[in-house]
Amino acid sequence: MTSNRTGMRIILMGPPGAGKGTQAKVIANHFGIPAISTGDIFRANVAGKTELGVEAQRYMDAGEYVPDEITNAMVRDRLAQPDAEPGFLLDGYPRTLAQVEELDGMLADGHPVNAVVVLTADSEELIARLLQRAQIEGRADDTEEVIRRRQEVYTEQTAPLIEVYAGRGLVVEIDGMGEIDAVTHRIFDALESQAG
Ligand code: AMP
Repeated sequence: MTSNRTGMRIILMGPPGAGKGTQAKVIANHFGIPAISTGDIFRANVAGKTELGVEAQRYMDAGEYVPDEITNAMVRDRLAQPDAEPGFLLDGYPRTLAQVEELDGMLADGHPVNAVVVLTADSEELIARLLQRAQIEGRADDTEEVIRRRQEVYTEQTAPLIEVYAGRGLVVEIDGMGEIDAVTHRIFDALESQAG
């Protein structure tokens, strides 16, 4: 797989703290596509005190998912932007079965998703990582209680999506533990053999 390959549509999944954001930027950069993080868009709206941000914040602060209608509408708008035309990487979307259905509808243009990269990691290790990040970044959703709730919500609502995408032959499971560069290599190797 070469970096000038066009039309890449990638979904990146994994539990909170598995390093999705970091890997998303590297992969997207490699393929020349935007990394679209719903968490980042929500956080920007919270910071900007927009209507969307005010609505989303109470869910985020509790470690719960923002309602599907709000999230879906936001992603629909984002994917309609011209920079998403040649492809995109979705970081943190879809996270519920209803979002999968909605995304299927948005992508019903003959260019389905190429790959769903799932980062796997030990949940206690992730909780430790997130607590450390909380100290550095001071995110409101990084208290221990909320961190644990976010892991639960992932297991309950998002982990089942892996089976749905596996049924479509799209899942590439990657061990997300270890050095950032090592994980990046695993992802590129796996994407290449999947494409090959
Ligand atoms: P993240 O940075 O991706 O972990 O997202 C931070 C928070 O934003 C999540 O805990 C949710 O409250 C909210 N969020 C992000 N993406 C979604 C989504 N696809 N569906 C619902 N809520 C989301």
